[in-house]
Amino acid sequence: MQIHYSDDHLAWKDTVVDFCERTVRPSLKGLDLTRPPTREEINALLNKFIGKGIVDGYPLREDGSPDYIAFAILIEELARVHHLAGFMTMQRLHVPRLFREMFDKEQQKNFNHLFFSDRTIIAACFSEPGAGSDSAGTRTTAKRSDNGNWVINGRKIWVSEGSHADALIVFVRVDKEIEPSGYGIFLVERGGGYEATPIKMMGLQAHEMCEVAFDNVVVPDINRVRGNAQAAVLGTIGRARPYMGVMATGYAQAALDMAVSYAKTHEQFGRPIGGFQLVQKLLADMAMGVASSRLMYYQALNTLMRKGEKASRVEASMAKAYCTETAWRVCSKGMEVHGAMGLTFECGIERLFRDARMLMVPDGTTQIHELVIGRALTGMSAIN
Ligand SMILES: Cc1cc2nc3c(=O)[nH]c(=O)nc-3n(C[C@H](O)[C@H](O)[C@H](O)COP(=O)(O)OP(=O)(O)OC[C@H]3O[C@@H](n4cnc5c(N)ncnc54)[C@H](O)[C@@H]3O)c2cc1C
Repeated sequence: MQIHYSDDHLAWKDTVVDFCERTVRPSLKGLDLTRPPTREEINALLNKFIGKGIVDGYPLREDGSPDYIAFAILIEELARVHHLAGFMTMQRLHVPRLFREMFDKEQQKNFNHLFFSDRTIIAACFSEPGAGSDSAGTRTTAKRSDNGNWVINGRKIWVSEGSHADALIVFVRVDKEIEPSGYGIFLVERGGGYEATPIKMMGLQAHEMCEVAFDNVVVPDINRVRGNAQAAVLGTIGRARPYMGVMATGYAQAALDMAVSYAKTHEQFGRPIGGFQLVQKLLADMAMGVASSRLMYYQALNTLMRKGEKASRVEASMAKAYCTETAWRVCSKGMEVHGAMGLTFECGIERLFRDARMLMVPDGTTQIHELVIGRALTGMSAIN
């Protein structure tokens, strides 16, 4: 396996790096990144980012299909600067695009303002306290009322951008007589009567996570995905998973950059520590982790583009599990290169370590992906 970036992709990468250094990094300076920004702060950032031809729309190939590799180049570089930039772009360019494909043409037209804007945030409400890895354990319900509307009741948790979102996509149980699978998906617009409460986490501190409560929230039938809800969720998450690996690789690259720079300048025993063989081993391990992660996610995205989502599921699982686990290890080694300095808040490398650890959980934990890979290898499912 080798990465064959086209000339266009290489040129795109240069443009993206320039955008990150000239626009993104300076724009984040002065913001309190130990908490999620407000909607106003997000809009102010978007005003600085949008209009420069980089995050103005999803990168497309000549035939109009999504260029998943160009998008990965963008996300890795943004994540290298800060998780906020990576997540903001994922949540606005990738997530609405994925979700709109769940809805038919009439519905997409109806929700044009949400699905075809580069500024809307759409949040996924899948997880519940008892339904994380096991989405079939979902307890939130949608019941059809006599006037044809639906009434949603229940509680979702770990919802990224839950209170910032312009709309939520909510996975629920429905009556099997109406939908034979027993599951449904609804779009609930902002102001639709739900309550989102932020949860403070150890990492990704500028990325909002929420608990969302639905208490008799009424939605019209046009907001319901028509078709198999579980298949729609699987297909959507399958195209999102490799990007958790892409973001993690951005954090790992940032940790490597910091560690190399520190090793070249910080002195012990009268010379830079980068000259010591064991410090070089730490750096070499980190560099191998970053390079192998890039190969892993490239492979998954390349298959996704060539053969479609179903054919890329196992590679997506490999990329998600490998890149996030590796990033955490790489960031830990980066901290080691920094000695005690790496353990301070001043240095900043501990943030990368915490952020990388967070990415091992969403879109399937490492163990769940190992089970997917194990099932593909043996033909036996360890789950059911
Ligand atoms: C940063 C972040 C962002 C997130 N964003 C969203 C979001 O936007 N929307 C949303 O709906 N959710 C989101 N989540 C939630 C995420 O999808 C869940 O946390 C994840 O699916 C795991 O569920 P859980 O936390 O309930 O853990 P559990 O499923 O309870 O798992 C606990 C432990 O048991 C292991 N385990 C579970 N089942 C098995 C098994 N069969 N075999 C072996 N091991 C098993 C797991 O691997 C894990 O180690 C986010 C989470 C994080 C950390």
